[in-house]
Amino acid sequence: MKYDVIIIGAGPGGIFSAYELIKIDQGLRIAVFEAGHPLDRRRCPIDGIKVKSCINCSCCSIMSGFGGAGAFSDGKYNITNDFGGTLYEHIGKKEALLLMHYVDEINMAHGGAGTKLYSTAGSAFKTECIRNGLHLLDASVRHLGTDINYVVLENLYQYLKDRVDFYFDTPVERIEIADGEYRAICRQGEFSAKECVISVGRSGSKWMENVCRELGIGTRSNRVDIGVRVELPAEVFSHITDELYESKIVYRTEKYGDRVRTFCMNPRGAVVNENTNGIITVNGHSYEDPARQTNNTNFALLVSKHFSEPFKDSNGYGESIARLSNMLGGGVLMQRFGDLIRGQRSTPDRIKDSFLVPTLDATPGDLSLVLPKRILDGIIEMLYALDKVAPGTANNDTMLYGVEVKFYNMEVDVDEHLETKYPGLYVIGDGSGITHSLSHASASGIYVARRIALKECAAR
Ligand SMILES: Cc1cc2nc3c(=O)[nH]c(=O)nc-3n(C[C@H](O)[C@H](O)[C@H](O)COP(=O)(O)OP(=O)(O)OC[C@H]3O[C@@H](n4cnc5c(N)ncnc54)[C@H](O)[C@@H]3O)c2cc1C
Repeated sequence: MKYDVIIIGAGPGGIFSAYELIKIDQGLRIAVFEAGHPLDRRRCPIDGIKVKSCINCSCCSIMSGFGGAGAFSDGKYNITNDFGGTLYEHIGKKEALLLMHYVDEINMAHGGAGTKLYSTAGSAFKTECIRNGLHLLDASVRHLGTDINYVVLENLYQYLKDRVDFYFDTPVERIEIADGEYRAICRQGEFSAKECVISVGRSGSKWMENVCRELGIGTRSNRVDIGVRVELPAEVFSHITDELYESKIVYRTEKYGDRVRTFCMNPRGAVVNENTNGIITVNGHSYEDPARQTNNTNFALLVSKHFSEPFKDSNGYGESIARLSNMLGGGVLMQRFGDLIRGQRSTPDRIKDSFLVPTLDATPGDLSLVLPKRILDGIIEMLYALDKVAPGTANNDTMLYGVEVKFYNMEVDVDEHLETKYPGLYVIGDGSGITHSLSHASASGIYVARRIALKECAAR
């Protein structure tokens, strides 16, 4: 089968590429290949009753399928160059911001209207942070919430389905280059096009590595973020979350000079398990619908580890630490901050005795047996620093879940057009290692779509 453009992966990167291509040129023949299911068939079998933990489905419905890894996420679209990826290093800060705003407009036009856009600009909290050795990063945050995020994806699919050929449950096995065309080899057949956009996200990282090796495309990798998820009564952070919703706060530790940062804040949300390649780590969700909200707020505290030669397997390092918590707790471990400071494990009785009602049923234990001392020291220091701007953070009952790991894809060598050394072969989104967020991944999709549409138009 021949197409004008082949897109591999139907996460935000792939979806927004297809959307923009069609918007500019309805005549383009576009195919999207997706290893996972259509949105309405994406279901994780864990129901907490019959299936309590991951059964390693051949294709994980949380990470794969229409909507990609973000389909069941909190749907926080951060409009900023300060975090979420380094797209701006390739396309410039102004262009990156414009594209993120444009993505926001599309989301608003497809079911997101009415959701709130928060901003750190002019916030008094920023001053409060500076006075206490904390640094609040600048951003506007559109919070769709898990429920509205799903509605937006449903609407985008309705718009695209008659204009683009979707091939679900169709992982692309290899890419071949022949006669100036790219050929996607799948079990179901072979498909070719002059332009190929690869947007395979985190779940496609191993596949991406193979493609780069086979085609001789350069890559770099040296970072992993490791830490815990913190859960506390919503009131402790409500003066911040009511105004900003999500605040990204960075702290440099006095002891080692390491940077610790808050990540993925979920006001009145729930802590959840996450399965990455069979390893159980922790994450968080929140909902726009008040009926689904809880009394707690959760966020991650992460320390970035950058490795230098000769060590190359930064993700393997993160996986080993997560495995240790799985070994001790059969999954995620939980510990009260007070127990951690006193050097004692949390027990079911101590957890029951807490004023805080945890939202995740994890195994009470001792995080100091899992996390490297340097990382744990940094987290403890930051909790005390946060206590100054949000009193109650360093309370006895503040719950810490571990471990939270943020894996990064290796960075693929692409130029300012996000094009590899092969003309017409683009690598975008989280699979490129350049983006790590919904907004940046979506923006990268729009960016390459505009270039491809321009090239196609000029060629006619
Ligand atoms: C639980 C969770 C919550 C999150 N919350 C947020 C949030 O609130 N805000 C935020 O900014 N970010 C969030 N993220 C991160 C965000 O989801 C990602 O940054 C974003 O989805 C990246 O988009 P992408 O298109 O690059 O990749 P993905 O969304 O990962 O999509 C890639 C797609 O490619 C498919 N694929 C992989 N290999 C192949 C192959 N060989 N052939 C065909 N298809 C293939 C996969 O099945 C997948 O569907 C969250 C992530 C998770 C897991």
